[in-house]
Amino acid sequence: MTFSDLGIISPILKAIEQQGYTEPTPIQAQSIPILLEGHDLLGSAQTGTGKTAAFTIPIIQRIFLQRNKKKKKGRRVLRALIISPTRELTIQIAENISIYSRHTGGKNVVIYGGVSQHKQTSALRNGADILIATPGRLLDLIGQGYIRLNSIDYFVLDEADQMLDMGFIHDIKKIIAKLPEKRQSLFFSATMPQAISELSDQILNHPKRVTIAPEQTTAEKVSQSVYFVSKPDKNDLLKHLVSENPVASILVFSRTKHGADKIVKALHKSNIKSEAIHGNKSQNARQKTLQRFKKNKFSVLVATDIAARGIDVSKLSLVINYDLPNVPETYVHRIGRTGRAQEIGEAVSFCSNTEKKYLGDIQKLINQKIPVISDHPFYNPKDGGESDAKKPKKPKNRSRSSSSTPRVSKKNRGSFKGKLKKNSKRKPNFKKSSKRKKG
Ligand code: AMP
Repeated sequence: MTFSDLGIISPILKAIEQQGYTEPTPIQAQSIPILLEGHDLLGSAQTGTGKTAAFTIPIIQRIFLQRNKKKKKGRRVLRALIISPTRELTIQIAENISIYSRHTGGKNVVIYGGVSQHKQTSALRNGADILIATPGRLLDLIGQGYIRLNSIDYFVLDEADQMLDMGFIHDIKKIIAKLPEKRQSLFFSATMPQAISELSDQILNHPKRVTIAPEQTTAEKVSQSVYFVSKPDKNDLLKHLVSENPVASILVFSRTKHGADKIVKALHKSNIKSEAIHGNKSQNARQKTLQRFKKNKFSVLVATDIAARGIDVSKLSLVINYDLPNVPETYVHRIGRTGRAQEIGEAVSFCSNTEKKYLGDIQKLINQKIPVISDHPFYNPKDGGESDAKKPKKPKNRSRSSSSTPRVSKKNRGSFKGKLKKNSKRKPNFKKSSKRKKG
């Protein structure tokens, strides 16, 4: 199955190809034809399944074709409204749309709360086809007269169950009341409790249903471990891991652009070839760096989350979370960069004292305890040793490292087994990991 089999037009196919997507994910293969035919859709799917492309691509295509039909193009009016619960998701969706509509000349505007509205309202004034919004800011700007929804032909409610959890249900109902009756509606939710299916009944008209199994598979496919380490020691731990794996292709995640540059500098000082990609680099520069990485011109690519979206390097040996993400779903996205296409990947996370909360959130999301590696030169019990401790149950004279953090079983330690002791001469062999059984 290819994207062109799904009926996608060439300017969008070109953008998809540039993204490095070779074939549609299951949700894309199922949803795109339904949406191009104009049906409503009820989708049960989580982030990480390729859901965003599944719903944005058909909307971009339909708007493009309809706009092209008109001889006099005129000022753009809002044709599509996408509502999502969080600022991060909203931005991510907008970024996806910008990528897929690179060659169609479509315009989108993203609005969310917590920042000044000025930039958002001037972008709206310039006109756009697609509006991506969080519910509160949307109602606010509608109230102030900056936005009218009477020209909306496509409406998407993303992450509906999260909307409900965040108390947005009344806002959603207010928004729906302002939409034209005649429209195509899409409704996505990872779970379908009663309140959600009632809401979907109000929004959708004879919807087709697409259900994709939760993407726990990513977390299951990737062998994960965490290193408790003080912030100032992170560079040394990174160098240590990299130098033990001279031929590996390693993707390092940094939370900030500035951080990414600092990591690259530190690696260069130790003669480790590495490059960074982040939002301050042009798309062109990022693509070039990526190509060089794919051709093994250097072994360590340091990226921020935004820049890493869409990175598809098939032979990635290891993902290192230099910083843990504060949005737990981002962790799943990151580790999903390795372990693609039937292979078991390897993901390592550095966790300093201040990041323990993020680790807890991640473990909750993936419903899994990530094994802790404590036999490495930079292990700092103060950082991680107490994070997971169930202290009341701990016998008095047990040592911290063996009780408060789950020591990695030999099975789980996998390719790092025994090689992180100082002066160890053994080299990790990431390839081995594909043969390893899950612990
Ligand atoms: P989403 O579920 O929309 O958040 O997508 C998860 C990740 O998969 C994003 O980083 C996308 O860029 C990526 N992605 C989406 N569709 C494909 C595809 N067909 N092939 C490879 N990667 C994809």
